[in-house]
Amino acid sequence: MSIRLGNSCTNCENLVDGMNCKIHGVQVSDSYTCDSFEMKAALKNDPNCTTCSRYEGPTCANPQKAALGMLCSHWAPQNAIA
Ligand code: SF4
Ligand code: SF4
Repeated sequence: MSIRLGNSCTNCENLVDGMNCKIHGVQVSDSYTCDSFEMKAALKNDPNCTTCSRYEGPTCANPQKAALGMLCSHWAPQNAIA
């Protein structure tokens, strides 16, 4: 499986209150992921620079162009830890 920055339990639709996974029935953390990962709908439906963890930060791939409505292949969800 490829390494993906955005595939963290914190961005997963299956995460419920108390950092519990409803698929596996165990407590997880932001550094966990698994093959059942499912991107939260809110993030999946709105990938743009303002929802990117790199926005206005040192790892932004296009700091001169980053803006609302823009997007590049380096987009990563805000809850992911780079
Ligand atoms: S363990 Fe897997 S299914 Fe459960 S919250 Fe994390 S990524 Fe999602
Ligand atoms: S989507 Fe690309 S250009 Fe926009 S903030 Fe993220 S890394 Fe920068």
